[in-house]
Amino acid sequence: MARDAVFDAWHSAWALGDVLATTRAPAAQWRERQAQRLVRLVEAAAEGSRWFRERLRGVRPGANTQALLAQLPVTHKRELMARFDDWVADPALKIDALRTFVNEPARRGEALLGRYQVWESSGSSGEPGLFVQDARALAVADALEAARGPVSLLGAALPWGAAPRIAYVAALGGHFAGVVAFERLRTLNPWFGASARTFSFLQPIDALAAQLDAYAPTVLASYPSTAWVLAQAQAEGRLAIAPQAVWTGGETLTPGLRRTIAEIFHVPVRDSYGASECLTIASECRCSRLHLNADWVILEPVDERGRALPEGQVGATTLLTNLANFVQPILRYDLGDRMRFVPGACECGSTLPVIEVQGRCDDVLSLHDRHGRAVHLAPLALTTVLEDDADVFDFRLCQRGAQALTLEVGTRDGTGAAQRERAGAALRRYLRAQGLGAVSLRLSARGAPRLGRSGKQCRVTREP
Ligand SMILES: [Zn+2]
Repeated sequence: MARDAVFDAWHSAWALGDVLATTRAPAAQWRERQAQRLVRLVEAAAEGSRWFRERLRGVRPGANTQALLAQLPVTHKRELMARFDDWVADPALKIDALRTFVNEPARRGEALLGRYQVWESSGSSGEPGLFVQDARALAVADALEAARGPVSLLGAALPWGAAPRIAYVAALGGHFAGVVAFERLRTLNPWFGASARTFSFLQPIDALAAQLDAYAPTVLASYPSTAWVLAQAQAEGRLAIAPQAVWTGGETLTPGLRRTIAEIFHVPVRDSYGASECLTIASECRCSRLHLNADWVILEPVDERGRALPEGQVGATTLLTNLANFVQPILRYDLGDRMRFVPGACECGSTLPVIEVQGRCDDVLSLHDRHGRAVHLAPLALTTVLEDDADVFDFRLCQRGAQALTLEVGTRDGTGAAQRERAGAALRRYLRAQGLGAVSLRLSARGAPRLGRSGKQCRVTREP
């Protein structure tokens, strides 16, 4: 079926030229663009969105970026979704019609009202969201992907002139951002349609392996945990593909996952960081560091009380401002992810800030030592201990009280008992080093995996 895709040739050419010009420029250039774009977004939100109009009264856009941000309210998905029709800047967009739209699988990737791409978020953080992009917002996302995304690093890996065969292994059931973006590119570009295919990761591993073997991808794109499962299948001889690169996104790529995937497939792993609220937040450079697309995106790590944190510190959450979307303004939006700005310059030469993101759906654990003092453990640290010190990747660690943890490793049929003991010993060592020797740790076999609706795995969780 022929269908329209949301696309504007003029904006796409302009955005690509602008992003390319800023990618290697001095920091002053992205700072200037960020400042101008924030003023424009605030003005557009006050003009077009009834919800923001009420809240932006008295805001003075003449101030510098930090001073302007400080005047803006922090926004949360729950309150915005509750007032969706007032939040969006086009009165033709109605929440009820959007809900009907995303409940029809056959319409995935279709242009709503002939001009909007729509996707849903999985609701792994409790509240599903609906996100609308027009051609201008998508032109920026396309440009960021083309100029800074993993595809920009692919040229050297492929024989000259060869078209890639990209296998995108993901949850295909809903209107999720990755799949909708994929369908849109396939509609837009005949070459992309011929060089990319989607595969459902929910099928049995041997069926998936057979499909991938038949397709023989040059690029494997998936969540880090799924790429790891496929790497295990490759190591066991159940999968035999020879990709030139592995692209990951959607979950945290820990150093251990990266190393294992790269070693088994003998290729570089390229990670990127995005969200339903902003498709391309940061992309990895050749030095394997995530650079924030600061000309189009503002991230603010903040503490539990919403206060800004200095460079280097991991926040309790992160506020996102998407400078490209005027239809559904995302301004100081509580993203729920935890990240930090990494001090210092990157060897690749880019002046765009380097960020480090903690687990997407993982929780920070807050345990009490023997004196009742809280000790916070970052999920990235805990996964690194289990991956690097115990060589265990498939686990679930759950906090069940101020001084109680359970660690699930291996299956109930008895496999993985040695892994379980190794993981337990490594974790106990780590806890003692944090002053948490009094915390009880119960080891058990794994129950059913805990997945968000988009299929993302949570390995470190805290019971409410
Ligand atoms: Zn770099």
